[in-house]
Amino acid sequence: MVELQGIPVSPGVAIGPALVLDAEGYRISRTLIAAESAEDEYARLLKAVAAVAEQIESNRLETSAVAGEDTGDIFAAQLQMLHDPRLHGELRRRIKREYHSADYAVNRVLHNYANALRRLENPMLADRAEDVLDIEKQLLLQLGAFDDQPLSDLTESVVILSHNLTPSETANLDRRYVQGFCTEVGGSGGHTAIVAKGLELPAVVGIGTFLDAVTNGTRVIVDGDRGRIILDPDDETLESYQQRIKKSQTLSARLAELRDLPAETADGTRIRLSANIEFPHETGSCLERGADGIGLYRTEFLYLSSSVEPSEEDHYEAYTQVVREMNGRPVVIRTLDLGADKMGHRPLAEQEHNPFLGLRSIRLSLRNLDLFRLQLRAILRTAVHGDIRVMFPLITKIAELRQAKMLLKVVGEDLKDEGIPYRADIPVGMMVEVPAAVVMLEQFVGEVDFLSIGTNDLAQYTLAVDRSNEYVADLYQSSDPAVLRLIQRCVEVADGSGRPLAVCGEMSSIPGRALLLVGLGVRNLSVPPLALSRIKKAIRSVSIDECHQIAERVMKLESAREVDMYLLDRLGVLVPELIVT
Ligand code: PEP
Ligand code: MG
Repeated sequence: MVELQGIPVSPGVAIGPALVLDAEGYRISRTLIAAESAEDEYARLLKAVAAVAEQIESNRLETSAVAGEDTGDIFAAQLQMLHDPRLHGELRRRIKREYHSADYAVNRVLHNYANALRRLENPMLADRAEDVLDIEKQLLLQLGAFDDQPLSDLTESVVILSHNLTPSETANLDRRYVQGFCTEVGGSGGHTAIVAKGLELPAVVGIGTFLDAVTNGTRVIVDGDRGRIILDPDDETLESYQQRIKKSQTLSARLAELRDLPAETADGTRIRLSANIEFPHETGSCLERGADGIGLYRTEFLYLSSSVEPSEEDHYEAYTQVVREMNGRPVVIRTLDLGADKMGHRPLAEQEHNPFLGLRSIRLSLRNLDLFRLQLRAILRTAVHGDIRVMFPLITKIAELRQAKMLLKVVGEDLKDEGIPYRADIPVGMMVEVPAAVVMLEQFVGEVDFLSIGTNDLAQYTLAVDRSNEYVADLYQSSDPAVLRLIQRCVEVADGSGRPLAVCGEMSSIPGRALLLVGLGVRNLSVPPLALSRIKKAIRSVSIDECHQIAERVMKLESAREVDMYLLDRLGVLVPELIVT
């Protein structure tokens, strides 16, 4: 049994056999061979090397003829690498002395080689690393080890163990079979984490290098509550986790009884509790748990979960499905927040050095007006079917908000000219997720109908911490006093202007932090569907005075750690049922 600690990103426990993927998403299996097969295995490798060499040589000739010798030289360099004596020595040693299968030896040796090149932080050598990985892939193909689409042909339950999963890969996981996942890299605020919660998949990220030591099929426990994974658990551990699963099912059943009760404090302060969704099919779980509406519909997932670019009709159909199913409840559609860790199939921006500080979100939409216009048309068309509100993400400057609103107006006029049914008078809001917007909030507030704080990005940009980077995950805390002061300021400005203010970042889905937000004066929370019942339970268990006291005390504390410890302590007293033991 091996226990590993990572970062908890999506709660719950999953137990199942491991499906191990490496950095590029293909299966690796730590397979050992019998000592007497080592010679045959090595011969198999040499045959694969010869076949790959032939392929590379033919690539070199073809490319040189079409694109000139300089370009063809890329393949000459690959060929040289393929025949590198040190590389061969290491492969031979692994197969003949350590009895690794040829596939596993190739996978490990070439990966280590590529990683060593990457660590040198020289851009030219980093390119070489890509060549090494290319050779590895070709060798694995020759060896018949490489399954091109390991995730698309699942037939039984698995727990995915991977170096990384992008938000779109996560969005496409087959929920029928995938029970949970763990990755070597990643931080708590990344969109992979958010999708995991949306799919209700227990997940742990940022574990560090561990895949080398795992074989496909090993039993794994993913403890998404504590950020732990356990490989090959002993009977006692397995039994205790099975008990936890049962307890959590009992708690969920009890919380389900709150469905038709309002999210109000014990002494009657009503909090609007809405849901964050990424996919239309999530409306079912929102309604099951009694959401007051959709507070954040992350529409970019329409791009991330499809292999073709969505048309205006695709947008319209998805939005219409959501608004119809929510049956009169408000739906806040956030316009595309592509870029940074969410890239679609059309390269909308060049490769950037700092994508979270680059062309993402509203900036990207305003530079790709064809894309933006198409989405805004679909939103205004959907508005005839229900209570639709539009929200612009990552607004930093007033000019961005004005341009976006102007485009919305123009699009409405186009629809009118075309005689297509639409509604133009929908509420327009902005996300407050950049410190500059908080500082300048008085300027913005007069030009919007509502505000919604995105604490995921607000924490990232306030604390200068990449939300998806495991190395600085401990610094990424929405409970940091600096972030709390910005939230407090937003409440003051919103109250002063009479504009409704929501919090839709992940912060509002952590019970203690949600009570803190209510104590700070927030009256609208939007959380992943999975968190609805727990947050409702927390709100219904406290008085508004208790929330105010929490906020008053917290605002005197100096660090996120102190804040979280205090909140946990209060939660233990006020809502002990929600403490995970
Ligand atoms: C946020 O930043 O808090 C937010 C809700 O938006 P996203 O997580 O999609 O960036
Ligand atoms: Mg955001």
